[in-house]
Formats: sequence, structure tokens, C-alpha cells
Amino acid sequence: MYKITVIPGDGIGPEVMEAALHVLEVLPIDFEFREARAGNACYQETGTTIPDETIEMAKNSDATLFGAVTTVPGQKSAIITLRKEMGLYANLRPVKSYPGVNSIYSDLDFLIVRENSEGLYSGVERETEEGATALRIITWKASERISEVAFKQALKLGKNKVTAVHKANVLKKTDGVFRQAFWEVAQKYTESDTYSDMGADELYVDAAAMFLVQDPHRFQVMVTTNLFGDILSDEGAGLVGGLGMAPSANIGDTNGLFEPVHGSAPDIAGSGVANPVAMILSASLMLQFLEEHREASKLERALLKVLKLGKNLTVDLGGTATTMEMAHAVREILEDS
Ligand code: NAD
Repeated sequence: MYKITVIPGDGIGPEVMEAALHVLEVLPIDFEFREARAGNACYQETGTTIPDETIEMAKNSDATLFGAVTTVPGQKSAIITLRKEMGLYANLRPVKSYPGVNSIYSDLDFLIVRENSEGLYSGVERETEEGATALRIITWKASERISEVAFKQALKLGKNKVTAVHKANVLKKTDGVFRQAFWEVAQKYTESDTYSDMGADELYVDAAAMFLVQDPHRFQVMVTTNLFGDILSDEGAGLVGGLGMAPSANIGDTNGLFEPVHGSAPDIAGSGVANPVAMILSASLMLQFLEEHREASKLERALLKVLKLGKNLTVDLGGTATTMEMAHAVREILEDS
């Protein structure tokens, strides 16, 4: 029995979460789903965006599913707090094309590994007389750790190159640390007979942003710092059909939290038209994390079939189906398989 903390959140968060649970429920896996609160609605009711009970529940679960929250300036970020409290230092964002989805590229399959615990999202900001400053913290430990994750993911996914993305020509000290830590870890993988095929290279972030648009096939696994990873992975989502198609995994040494890349989408919330694919694919990443690889593949195949058939697609994918109609189509295929 897996204990799964479910945090629906705000806006379309609860809508896509309902869709994902509707699909997960038919798998032959014993789940205990335990709902917890976070986000803006939670703040309005309790005075905090992320109650201690939610953090405790997530820490003591086998995994957490997170929908999306609305973030209001001045409020504590629920997701950043959870990532910190749960020690989820790696954010994995696959960029994958799916059939039947109108996208710029139809044959992409690479992974962006984003450092999740420090960088410009360390949360150390202060007002000054001239305006404000933010502290960009880059440590050896976190840089080595995230580089290790990138190479391990490359091996797991059968990829043979990891590209480090940084701006060490300008951010000489901070990205100097990141870059050197990357190359020390890379050496272990590229110069070892055990991993004879593995390669490594590096790009400045501005060039990487350009190549993502012009020549994304050059990427297999990209590893980068927190803010660069946040931006480049949304760019990656844009290449394969938009935010409704982009899942993510936040992982640490012992725990994992799985969430779509998109936010609470207040412009479409409440109308039942949100694309549930990113949330369902995030649930599939959770299954892989739980080593339920067979069920993860089954789920992804069912989703592929719905996309290929093209009958039950949400508006952003060119169809007219509601969130739950699309989820139900995936569920029906799973029930018949
Ligand atoms: P957003 O991702 O919510 O929406 C951007 C655009 O993409 C909108 O037009 C939206 O309708 C569309 N979109 C997003 N998800 C979709 C889906 N599943 N199906 C169809 N269309 C979809 O980003 P935003 O508008 O910049 O932010 C809205 C709120 O979400 C803000 O409060 C922001 O801070 C928050 N946010 C939260 C998270 C999170 O919870 N992890 C992530 C990003 C943004």
C-alpha cells in the first residue's frame, strides 16, 4: 500500500488532480490517497499557504501529487517551502513530443534537470536604498549532487550526453562553482570504462535558449541551476505543445513530489477545460519513482492512444472535450487493457 499525499491547490489544480486520480484509481496498485491543503485558498482560510500538517503528511508519505497553486506577492511560496522541507533538490522536466499534438517539433525526447534548492530561488532578498537585491547561492554540495542526478538519469534513460548550462563567463564565482563541480562529476562518467558511451559538454544559457528553438535535437539531458532551469523548461514545454503537456518530478534522496509545470491558470479555472495531460504524466513519473514501471508504461500508452485517436482532446489541443472527458477516455483504455 502506497500512502500518497494529494495537494490539489487552487484554480485548475483541483480540476487536473481529479482527472489524474480518476485514471490512477483503475490501476492494480493499492494507493491510500490523503488530501492536504496548500495555496491561496488555504491562506484565506488558515492564514498560511502551507500548514505544518501538510508538510508533515508529505514528508511521511511514499510520494506527493501536487496540482497547482495561485501565488500572491508577499505570501510564502507553498511549493518552494515543500521542496525545501522535503529535501527535493532535483527537478526533472522531460521535454517529449506526443503524436496528435500540434507542436513545433514532433520528435523530441530529452530531459531538463534543474537544481531545485538554491540559486536565485534561495529566498534571500532584501530592500536597499536603491531598490532591492537577491542572493544567488551556489554550493559545491548542491552542484555536485545535481550533476550526479543528471548523469544517473542519462544512464537510466539510455541517453549518452549531459550538457551543463550556465553563465560562468559573467557569473564567474557562482557559476564557476557550478561549472567546476559539473566537470568533476562528468569526468567520473566520461572517463570510466563502465560508462564508455557517456559524453558531456556545456553551453552558456543564452546560447542554450537559442539552440532549444533552433536545434533542440542536440540535447539529451541538460543540467542547470534553479532560475535558468525554470525558464528553459517552460521553453521546452513550448516546443512540444505547451504547458498543458509538461510534467515534472521533484526528487530527493528518499521522497518525491510530482506536479505539472503549469500554474493555477486563473483565466480558465472553473470552466472544466484544463488539459489534464501534464498532471497525468506527472502521476506516471510518480509511478516510475515508486518502481511501478509496468503501470507507468501502461498509463503512458493509454494516454498516447487518446492523443492519437484525437476524439477526446481539450481545447488547447484542438478538441472540445472537458478535462474529465479526456481523463475518462484514458481510463476506459486502461480498463480494457
Ligand atoms: P499558468 O501556467 O497558470 O498559465 C499560463 C497560460 O497557460 C494560461 O493562459 C493558462 O490558461 C494556460 N494553461 C496552463 N495550464 C494549462 C492547462 N493544463 N490546460 C490548458 N491551458 C493551460 O501561469 P500564470 O498564468 O503565469 O500563473 C497563474 C498562477 O499560477 C500565478 O499565481 C502563478 O504564480 C501560479 N503558478 C504556480 C505554479 C505552481 O503551482 N507550481 C507554477 C507556475 C505558476
